[in-house]
Amino acid sequence: MVCFDEARCLGTKFFAILHVFLYFCDEMQKIFKKIRNFIASVQAHRREPLRLEFVLSDYCNLNCKGCTHYSPLAVKEFESVEQLECAASHLGKAVGAGLDVVYLIGGETLLYPHLPEAMGLMRRHFPTTRIQLFTNGILLPKMTDEFWVSARDNGVELAITRYPIAFDYDAAEALCRAKGVSYEVFGDRGEDGAFLRFALDPDKKQNGRVSHFKCFNRGCISVVGDKIYPCSISACVGHLNKACGTRFEHQSGDWIDVSSVRDVSQLKRLRDRPVPFCSYCKENPTVTKYGASKREKSEWVD
Ligand code: SF4
Ligand code: SF4
Repeated sequence: MVCFDEARCLGTKFFAILHVFLYFCDEMQKIFKKIRNFIASVQAHRREPLRLEFVLSDYCNLNCKGCTHYSPLAVKEFESVEQLECAASHLGKAVGAGLDVVYLIGGETLLYPHLPEAMGLMRRHFPTTRIQLFTNGILLPKMTDEFWVSARDNGVELAITRYPIAFDYDAAEALCRAKGVSYEVFGDRGEDGAFLRFALDPDKKQNGRVSHFKCFNRGCISVVGDKIYPCSISACVGHLNKACGTRFEHQSGDWIDVSSVRDVSQLKRLRDRPVPFCSYCKENPTVTKYGASKREKSEWVD
């Protein structure tokens, strides 16, 4: 016969084991949930629309601190039309049908001296792809008829980012409507939380996989000259190196040559997997107030 004390002892042990078991189940559930969320995020990343961003110039008529194209540090240089044509011609044939959208981007694209021609050649090489021209809009009231006709006839949409500056964006949008050119307001940098600072670690000690997994610039596949990089942070870092004496270097795997692209799987791989440069990137950019750049290294480097 089990005495009362033994029964109580057994009961206590039973509840202790049950407690441990339930705790274990709870922890396992949390781990499974994290794994499920991770897998869902990876799958969502891979399903994101595929876009290619052709950089016309990093030079800009605004001077925003922490710009992800390092525009405040960029000298006034423009991609040649010949190089643009060469890259667009090859990529149009190799991957055009598999892209969701092509961007013409900067810097400020409206400063590009051959813009009507550039829009025409992009349409020729990407006949059915959505094409967007990114701009801060400031020069829209000064654009020539040739610009408006080319944008309209080539079906190029203007993607206007609003900045908190003294400029009549409503009038600029009205102008697009009057010219029959489609446009969208891509973002408003004056809104709370709309301006971010991305920091680089000069010692390259970051966990590249984590930085890439959490990357806010994923998908900004950038064509610069005859090379393709996964993002502007890496593609345009030469401006930072030149102006501030930093040594953010590229190594094999950080880019692919335009001429080597045969199908979209190469672009997706470049977008969806970390590259060596990701180990320079600190995860979690900080929200910062919009302001003018002082062209100081600390705007981009920790
Ligand atoms: S307008 Fe855009 S490209 Fe120009 S400095 Fe500002 S963030 Fe950079
Ligand atoms: S280098 Fe990698 S982590 Fe850094 S911005 Fe580019 S894709 Fe993102």
